[in-house]
Amino acid sequence: MERFQDDDAGYERWLAAHPDLFVLNTARRPAPNYLMLHRATCRTIAGTPARGTRWTGEYIKFCGQRTELEKFSQARVGGTAFPCRLCL
Ligand SMILES: [Zn+2]
Repeated sequence: MERFQDDDAGYERWLAAHPDLFVLNTARRPAPNYLMLHRATCRTIAGTPARGTRWTGEYIKFCGQRTELEKFSQARVGGTAFPCRLCL
């Protein structure tokens, strides 16, 4: 699993390299009330940011296998990763 914070270029490189993996979008300080799981190909987490001007600023991204992101959410943040309605 990789973590992207204040690194939009690195995040976009990761997305391009891993279209088959998943992205957990969460607050800069991860909290159980916002853990959104997306496919790396989801249009809401690529292209032009809908929230703010950066992808890895106010919100940050954990990227990897779906199972490891779900386990991370439970074990480290204490919440459930909510599947994006558009891509999952
Ligand atoms: Zn999505």
